[in-house]
Parts: sequence; structure tokens; C-alpha cells
Amino acid sequence: MTNKEVAPDLLGLEPAALASALDGVVDRSFRVKQIFAALHHRDALVFEEMTDLSKGLRAQLQQRFRIAAPEVLEANTSADGTTKYLLSLVDGAQIEAVDIPDGDRRTFCISSQAGCALACKFCVTGYWGAGRDLSAGEIVGQVTTLRRRVGELPKGLNLVFMGMGEPLLNAGNVYTALKLLAETISWRRMTLSTVGILPEMEKMLGWPKRPNLAISLHAPDDERRSKIMPVNKKYSLADLLELLHRYPLEGHRRITFEYLLIRDFNDSPADADLLARLMRGLRAKVNLIPINQDGVLGARMEPPSRQAVEGFKDRLRHHGLVATVRRQRGDEVSGACGQLRAAHREARGFRTPTAL
Ligand code: SAH
Repeated sequence: MTNKEVAPDLLGLEPAALASALDGVVDRSFRVKQIFAALHHRDALVFEEMTDLSKGLRAQLQQRFRIAAPEVLEANTSADGTTKYLLSLVDGAQIEAVDIPDGDRRTFCISSQAGCALACKFCVTGYWGAGRDLSAGEIVGQVTTLRRRVGELPKGLNLVFMGMGEPLLNAGNVYTALKLLAETISWRRMTLSTVGILPEMEKMLGWPKRPNLAISLHAPDDERRSKIMPVNKKYSLADLLELLHRYPLEGHRRITFEYLLIRDFNDSPADADLLARLMRGLRAKVNLIPINQDGVLGARMEPPSRQAVEGFKDRLRHHGLVATVRRQRGDEVSGACGQLRAAHREARGFRTPTAL
């Protein structure tokens, strides 16, 4: 079989599954370990690179299997060193991943779905609508592809699931991918960002190991949150907070709350007070994100002034909260969720929406 479309992927398989996929192809568990190490510790993109295997075995693997690392369609680097990748999957679906260097550390931001069904009003991916779930191999493969681009196994690598999609609507594959990625990146350095799909968050409480948790909050009350995040009608703030109060945190871990700042919508001093009240009793860290207007937002949603952003942060700190403002990175490369794919489509004749 040489058809890449149907060949089973090996990258998304945990050791036991890999061993059974290779049953009858390799004769010793030692070989399975070599292949696993080549995939996860050496970021092999093709079987030909697995030079500790015989030529014959490599050819056989090449014939029967594939490695689900996505292909790079476009890579755009901005002045601050942030590189945004437009990636293509085996069926032509497109996703985005971002490499954000920061001194001797770097963060990869990866996608969990090729699209998103949640239709948050500020989000370009949401505007374009649902796509398919990524397989575990396609999730891991983004890291493989980016690490190969960087040209080494970066030390101090952090991973955030803040690209396209809602990771907890693809929780099974995301969990498998996390376990595989934990081979080379510690759980402490991985963060899953979610709108708060509560039944899946509840299940996460049962995982023996967990990534850091970030919650896309974005509004201090249900009325406004439902306006910009329709999912809030299903999972309310009260239910979300109730679950978070039960969420065990080890050591010095905190739950991150992402809060988009939108001028004249959720940025008043009274809103900071409301937000602080919601956070009461939680080991929380608030990450303020002045809204990025590119793409679908048109003139409808603007970021507050710099002083207003600082004022909002100071007010949260005054309430005793840990609060930071997310620096804008990679602006010129369409840094926010879904924007690069949108720009790519526009260049190929798709309409870019201008109003909500
Ligand atoms: N569905 C998950 C994972 C996607 S994360 C979640 O919502 O948490 C995508 C992050 O990008 C979210 O925190 C979202 O707030 C942010 N984002 C989306 N659109 C944005 C915009 N226009 N400006 C700034 N941040 C945006």
C-alpha cells in the first residue's frame, strides 16, 4: 500500500498501541522502542530518517504506515521573532501553530481542531465555523514539525493549546497527545486553554497527570459572557466556578483566567471589581488580553487605551490578584486565533467578513 491517505499513523500511538500496530512487522519489542524514540525523542518526519533500523525495515514501514506531522504551507516571522505557521493536514485541512521565542525559552501554540463550533464573537476561527477534530498524531505532529523547523530539541519549551479549536471538545485525542508529548515536555510546561466544557473538565480531574489549566473567561457576568461566548448559555459561570473550586492544584500551580479586554464592554473599574469577586477563594492568575482587532472584528470591538488596560490590571492587583497583561506578539503575522488561515483564504479569493 502506498496510498498516504489511508496508511495508519504511528505518531499518535502510545507505546502499547504502537507495539500492536507493529505486530508482525517488527519481531522484537526493542524495535518498537527504537521507533518510539525516533518519533518522540528525535522528531523523525520520515521513516528513512530512522537510521538505526535496517534499510529493509524502513522501506517496509514507509509502505505500510505514515507519520502524521503536518506540512508547512506558509511560515511568517515578525520583527519580534514570532513565527506563525499555516499547516496542512493529510486531507488538506488547514491549521495554525505559532512559535514564540522569549529569551532562552520558547512557547509553541498549537491547534486541537481544524475549525471550531463554539462561534465566540471575537474569534476568527469561530467565525469560519466547525471543522474536524485533529488526531492525536496531528496534535503531536505540530510539535514535531515546529521543533524540526527550530532545528533542535529546544530547552525550556512551553506548550499551549491556544491555537484553533476547543481542546476539550476533542478531549480523548488531546489527552493521548499530551501523554505522548510528556515524553519530552514536562506536564508543568503544558497549558490547556478551554472555554470550560464542564463534563470534560470534570473528567480531567480524574487524569493521573494534568496540564496547567487556562480558562477563557472574557466577561465578569453571565449576561455579557453569553453575548460574546454562546457556550456560556450551556455552561454558566456559577457552574464553572463551582467546578474550579473542586479542582486540585499541586504545589504553586494556579489556574489562569484569560480575560479579553474590549473597550466599553468589559473594561470598567466596576468590571475589575466584579472579576475580582468571581476569583475569590481560587488560586487564580488573570491574564489580560487587549483584544486583537484584525480579521472579523471590524470596528465593532476595540481594545481599551493603554492606560485603561494598566488601570484595570492595577485594580485587580489592588484586590490581591495576580494579574498580567499579555504582550502583543507577532502582530504583523496575524497572531490571533485563525487569522492566518483567514488571510490565506482571502488571498485565494474568499471573502473576509467585516461585520459580526
Ligand atoms: N477554545 C479554547 C482554545 C483556543 S485559545 C479557548 O477558547 O480557550 C484561543 C485564545 O485566543 C483564547 O483565549 C481567545 O481568547 C484568544 N483569542 C481569540 N480571538 C482573539 C482576539 N480577537 N484577540 C485576542 N485574543 C483572541
